[in-house]
Amino acid sequence: MEEVRVRFAPSPTGFLHIGGLRTALYNYLFAKKNGGKFILRIEDTDRTRYVEGAIENLIRSLEWAGIDHDEGVFIENGKIVEKGDAGPYIQSKRLDIYKKYVDYLIENGKAYYCFCSKERLDSLREEQRIKGQVPKYDGFCRGLSLEEAKKRIADGEDYVVRLKLPRNEDIEFNDAVRGRVVINSDEMDDQVLMKSDGFPTYHLAVVVDDHLMGITYVVRGEEWLPSTPKHVYLYQAFGWQAPTFVHLPTVLNKDRKKLSKRNDDVAVEDFRDKGYLPEGLVNYLALVGWSPEDGKEILSLDEMVDKFSFDRVGKSGGIFDKEKLDWVNSHYIKNYPLEKIAELSIKPMVESGLMTEEEIRGDWEGYLYLVGTVVDSLNNVGEIADKVSFLFGDLKIEEEDALAEVRSENMPILIDAFENELNQIDEVDEDFAKKVMKKIQKATGIKGKGLYMPVRAAISGNVHGPELSNIIMILGKDRLLERLNAARSYR
Ligand code: GLU
Repeated sequence: MEEVRVRFAPSPTGFLHIGGLRTALYNYLFAKKNGGKFILRIEDTDRTRYVEGAIENLIRSLEWAGIDHDEGVFIENGKIVEKGDAGPYIQSKRLDIYKKYVDYLIENGKAYYCFCSKERLDSLREEQRIKGQVPKYDGFCRGLSLEEAKKRIADGEDYVVRLKLPRNEDIEFNDAVRGRVVINSDEMDDQVLMKSDGFPTYHLAVVVDDHLMGITYVVRGEEWLPSTPKHVYLYQAFGWQAPTFVHLPTVLNKDRKKLSKRNDDVAVEDFRDKGYLPEGLVNYLALVGWSPEDGKEILSLDEMVDKFSFDRVGKSGGIFDKEKLDWVNSHYIKNYPLEKIAELSIKPMVESGLMTEEEIRGDWEGYLYLVGTVVDSLNNVGEIADKVSFLFGDLKIEEEDALAEVRSENMPILIDAFENELNQIDEVDEDFAKKVMKKIQKATGIKGKGLYMPVRAAISGNVHGPELSNIIMILGKDRLLERLNAARSYR
């Protein structure tokens, strides 16, 4: 059987889009499942969209996510390098290759030179718009002889090269997700293949590269589906066998709109900076548009490889559901080594102003205890400051139900009993933290909710939260005394 070769071919426009990461992931899963190769190619032929540092950023985001490629563009020692036999893998380094193939198409009557000015094309489009027609090139230069065209080029005229589509011919292909797609060439445009700056358009470059790089499956977002007939025709024009096409449903937000930078987090780095774990994000993304047959939702990369197939990829857009992402991610947070979560939490903690890095590193054991106290409640590591802030500074009671607890009848007796226990020790240790509630119960005869809720409210300011003994341990003797005293003033 032919070796499976797939590619992820992003344009370096600044960052890795979350939808792009999912495309890369599905390519990766399919390659791994079939013992094939996954290639990273950079499509940078649109020079107007090029952003400095974008290639590095793309590769780092893929690396962070753990989606490794076998061939193509990599970063080594801070430098962009290429590996593999089918390079170069950066399209701007392949201009002479595209030129050769464009010339072949022209010589064989499958493409033609076009000299139409921008003004002519603009007024044509305007005319079509007024008539309510779909804008389309009218074929003005289709009939020019090659001889005449070459003379005009020699005279220094600007030109582009256009695809010469056949008239009234059905172009069809099979998409692994959408099935059979048929479109008549009369509904299509004589696509520009080579621009006046000598750069190919995406359409030419993608076909030439996918062919020369031996790509067997083109797996990409469904926004490329309308372009695919042009690509299919190009394969025919070159006399090449087309790869299998797999168009993935768009990643939508909960309003069923395309994720947009303006309204949503879309960059992989946004999620990383918020404290999502790569395992959590990747696991969740796999489920946006695909599901394994057994319905399992928490899946390691290896399990996904094992279960992945295109026939379980949906046709309709996948909804990016932040709550579900949180749920998946929290699962990974709970199961991660605490040390690692603590390391990742330093940045958001320091940014919140609750602790300095020196304070954190100065009592690492204490910090681990603090993080361990709230880790089970985190959806992402970035929430850490929010979750522990109640343990810093003075007692603050804002919620109605917490206020009701500190105002409850038993509160003064409980505060006295707690103070009494504290006054008998030098400092709070684990043993004290674990047993003190029992002692207060014994001393006051108050138990259950009537005991725990007011005490929790009086020392933490809330009625919900982590283990009470952890809170007691972290606050320590002096701050507990301060807070108990402060709780009195809420009465
Ligand atoms: N360069 C295109 C993009 O950034 C890739 C499309 C394709 O995979 O063919 O989406």
